Amino acid sequence: MAYDQDNIFAKILRGEIPVEKIYEDGFAVAFPDINPQAPTHVLIIPTGPYDSLDDFAKNGTVAEIAGFWRAVGAIGRQLGVSETGYRTLANTGPDAHQEVPHFHVHLFAGKKLGPMLAE
Ligand code: 5GP
Repeated sequence: MAYDQDNIFAKILRGEIPVEKIYEDGFAVAFPDINPQAPTHVLIIPTGPYDSLDDFAKNGTVAEIAGFWRAVGAIGRQLGVSETGYRTLANTGPDAHQEVPHFHVHLFAGKKLGPMLAE
């Protein structure tokens, strides 16, 4: 699947849609989810044009993959939840209801998060 340059996260990366960036480096950008599902709900996206986790894992450079996951950990610490705990989630493809075709990791925190999957 060709990367859709007009997806909402591509527009956020280009600065065409304003968001409150809570983290930014050469590999990742993070901002609050517009429809939070937990007291803390942040989206973390790579700066490169990858449409899914599958695309990123297959085609991302080692530096991009390392930099991205380093950023995820750093964001958890920045948010002050690395000790209390948090959950990360990456919906991939239709069965997981991935809505936005730019790889993103959800970071949820701020309460007991309950079972991993709701029926
Ligand atoms: P997915 O279902 O693809 O894993 O999650 C996409 C997420 O993006 C959803 O949780 C949705 O609330 C969030 N989202 C969609 N559009 C926007 C937007 O314009 N700004 C922000 N901050 N989040 C968005």
